[in-house]
Formats: sequence, C-alpha cells, structure tokens
Amino acid sequence: MRRDDCCSCCFSAVDSVCHALWTCPAANDVWLESNLRLHKWDRCVDNFCDLLMLARGRLGDEEIELFSCLAYFIWDQRNKLVHEGSAPNPVGVVRRARSLLQSFKLSLPQVGHIDRVEAQQSAQGDADLRWEAPKAGEYKVNWEVCKDSGSNVWYVGVLIRNHVGGVMACLCSPVMALPRGLNPRVGACIHALKFALELGFLDICLEGPHVNSLEVGSSFQTESIADMWNEEVWVFIQRFHHFTMSSSTDKVNRETLGLAQLGPSFVGSRVWIEEVPSQILRLM
Ligand SMILES: [Zn+2]
Repeated sequence: MRRDDCCSCCFSAVDSVCHALWTCPAANDVWLESNLRLHKWDRCVDNFCDLLMLARGRLGDEEIELFSCLAYFIWDQRNKLVHEGSAPNPVGVVRRARSLLQSFKLSLPQVGHIDRVEAQQSAQGDADLRWEAPKAGEYKVNWEVCKDSGSNVWYVGVLIRNHVGGVMACLCSPVMALPRGLNPRVGACIHALKFALELGFLDICLEGPHVNSLEVGSSFQTESIADMWNEEVWVFIQRFHHFTMSSSTDKVNRETLGLAQLGPSFVGSRVWIEEVPSQILRLM
C-alpha cells in the first residue's frame, strides 16, 4: 500500500485489501478472465472477510478453491507491479492459479478430484504414441466403442492393466440402451467404470474417447436427460479412491477397439480375468 492511499495499479484514491483483490480494475480483469460466475456480484464489499463470505455462499467447493488461488496470485501480481515494475497480466494470473490448484490436487489421492490429462500429441508423429503404464498400485482402464453396422448395436471393449502392463481383466459388452440422442460413449464409459468397480479396482486411470460429461467443471443442472446421465457418470467416479483420466488416440487404444469389435460374435457380455481373447493378444 502506498503512503498516499492511492492504488498502485489504477491510481484511484482508495487503497485497501478489498480494493486490491476485488474492486481494482487490475483485479477485475483477472476475475473476468477466470470464468468464475461472479461478474455480476456487487463490487461494493466492505472488507475481504465479507467478500469471502459472499464467495462461500455463492460458489461451489471447487470454485472456492480456484477463487482462493486467484486471490493469492492477484496479490502476487500487485507485489510484482510495485516492486518489480511488471505489467498486469490477467491471463498469466489465471494460468498460475489453475496450475497451483492442479498441482495441489495431484498431490492428494482424494476422491472427486479429477485430473484430466490430454493425450500428448507427439511432435514426431503417431509412432511415438505408446500405451503408458499407470503408477504402481494403480490400474489403467482403457475403453473404446464401436458400432456393428449390421445390427446398429454399439459395443464397448474394456481392458484393465496394472503398472507393468499385466492384464487384470477385460470386458466386451453391448452398450446399454440409452434414451434417443445420447452419445453411446456415455453408456460405454459407465460400463467401464462399473466393470472396474465391480472387480474392486478403486485406484484407476481411465483412458478412452472424449466424453463431454467428464469435462472438469461440467455443471449439472439436471434439466435434460443428458444432464442426468452425465451426473450418473460422476456418481460412479466418486466411488473410486483415486481417479485420473486421459484421452486416448486410436493407436493407443487399438486393443480395446478390437475387444469392442468382437461384440457381435457373442451373445450378451463376456468377461476375461487375467487373460485376453486370442484375437486381442496379437494387437498388444
Ligand atoms: Zn486499483
């Protein structure tokens, strides 16, 4: 704070903790950039404690975590402006806040914290994309769907492997019938989650095609049928002790695609424990 009580960012006459973190245009730019639902909140808040109470009443737990990290880095940005002459950078503040939160979550093997890791697009091309084993004590659950053009039935293939790539179990099953218009991937993803839960694999990394409902920060207003099914996916995810996710490429997931493609040759679901069907073995 300056001796003349002027804000170092906007030079307005009032400088206070609440101004620095909330009403100052430099702070406001960060809040706008963050996409938190607080743009229309009253900017006339008396003190920081009131601001926190306001946030706690209106934001969910995950949003509060981000809110706190953002406040921390807004303050940090201000320090850098005063002491190092750095220009405000709202995009950088939001990136650092999200990154801090992400590392914090990664350090906690906690239920409900989802870390979505994009499959790395290798600069050298697809040849470098290999199936990656999970950490010791965790299991990789790969899944894939395909549609049988003859019957129009969708099938899911699920393959669970341990940290040395050993096959623990696999499944080939028709995808459950979902209401019209719903992406069969949602049903297939539920099959994969249920399969892992039923076999007692509670520390998993789920790897499969992109599913919208697995986006971090998906909001569930349960207004549509799709919202209800998305919520269903999240209910299953909460039952794991440790859950991470990565999206796959066709190449990485060819064994599970092969499993799904076996679907039409069976009646109903098939499960293999600690082995894979011979047709899949040559794909591995
Ligand atoms: Zn200011």
